[in-house]
Amino acid sequence: MIDDTSRHLFGEDHAIFRAQVRSFLDREAVPHHDRWEREGMVSRAVWQAAGAQGLLCPTVPEAYGGAGADPLFSVVVVEELARAGTSGLGFWVHSEMAVPYLVNFGTEAQKHRWLPGVVSGDTIAAVAMTEPDSGSDLRGMRTRATRQADGGWLLKGQKVFISNGQMADLVIVAAKTEVEGKDRISLFLLDARSEGFRRGRNLDKLGVHAQDTSELFFDDIRLPPDALLGEAGEGFAYLRRGLVRERMIIAASCIAKAERALALTLDHARQRRIFGRMLLDYQNTRFVLADVARDITVGREFVDGFLARWLAGGLDETNAAIAKLWTTEMVGRVADACLQLFGGWGYMTEYPIARLWAEARVERIAGGTSEVMRDLIGRSL
Ligand SMILES: Cc1cc2nc3c(=O)[nH]c(=O)nc-3n(C[C@H](O)[C@H](O)[C@H](O)COP(=O)(O)OP(=O)(O)OC[C@H]3O[C@@H](n4cnc5c(N)ncnc54)[C@H](O)[C@@H]3O)c2cc1C
Repeated sequence: MIDDTSRHLFGEDHAIFRAQVRSFLDREAVPHHDRWEREGMVSRAVWQAAGAQGLLCPTVPEAYGGAGADPLFSVVVVEELARAGTSGLGFWVHSEMAVPYLVNFGTEAQKHRWLPGVVSGDTIAAVAMTEPDSGSDLRGMRTRATRQADGGWLLKGQKVFISNGQMADLVIVAAKTEVEGKDRISLFLLDARSEGFRRGRNLDKLGVHAQDTSELFFDDIRLPPDALLGEAGEGFAYLRRGLVRERMIIAASCIAKAERALALTLDHARQRRIFGRMLLDYQNTRFVLADVARDITVGREFVDGFLARWLAGGLDETNAAIAKLWTTEMVGRVADACLQLFGGWGYMTEYPIARLWAEARVERIAGGTSEVMRDLIGRSL
């Protein structure tokens, strides 16, 4: 199980925070998670409770209501979400995917307007890049924002697969804009109360059922001039920078998910008796779990090393892609091998290992597919 004392990067403050996060999730999320899975989303109350405990956006500077903590506090939150099996809580999408764009590229006025609410959990954030016809190929997006005479923008288009989409109050939307005669991507802050904003279906997924994943529609939304985030036309560069953080967070989360798979399987293998022997007594079981333990140990050292580089500002896009590719493929392998040791019970969704297997599957798709990671790495060689 995750233990900060053997991890050089993490100090006593992280261990204290980890204990707080763990107890919060065990108390406020685990008992409700089955119901949230049936309902297709979590409650607003748990977001606000998490905000009150400092679980949301821990790195937001104090001037805007945050704790100004180092990003390892964010890592602690995602690892604990994975450990608890509370995949429905889209906290990392909010804190690590969406809000950093506002912190890094927002004006003072934009930050003062939005950041206190995202820290408290009163405002839930999402990022909308993907469209029905373009996911990996972001430059192929069709959503367009056209500058108006008053300096504002007219936003038209649609997005799909947007995490937190049903609950979001603030959506960071990527859209094509014309800059000096050329089509370039820009980012916009969309208030979900804007006229012309519509949420489509909460999509029915293979796993992660308690997290809402949605279609979003922008029907000629009039955005004010200050909805533009950063410079017009710089959106693609901002996304590339943001994806480094997103991919390191995914990598850390995948190691914690693999660790949970091992803990669940060990528990089962100690209890299950087959042909008069404990499942764990079979050499096959021990060999499978030995490989799992090897992957987790190697993976944790590897990811912690990259996290240290990231903290020091020296982790580039290629290395973040390597971390995402390796850890997401590893957790897929681990979840599959562990599920096999449960036999038929492993296929029953009432068993956490079945849900973990379905959760692990999306890691090779969302946040950039394995093929896109290989393409990025390959181009750097
Ligand atoms: C549960 C879930 C949550 C998500 N949350 C969000 C979110 O919050 N916000 C958001 O904007 N998006 C989100 N996404 C979208 C996700 O990022 C995309 O699904 C992903 O980037 C792939 O895009 P696509 O689905 O359009 O697949 P496509 O791009 O159509 O890919 C199809 C296939 O082509 C392959 N391919 C693509 N490019 C190459 C290449 N260069 N070489 C070889 N093969 C290639 C892919 O790997 C894949 O196998 C989410 C997706 C899921 C499933």
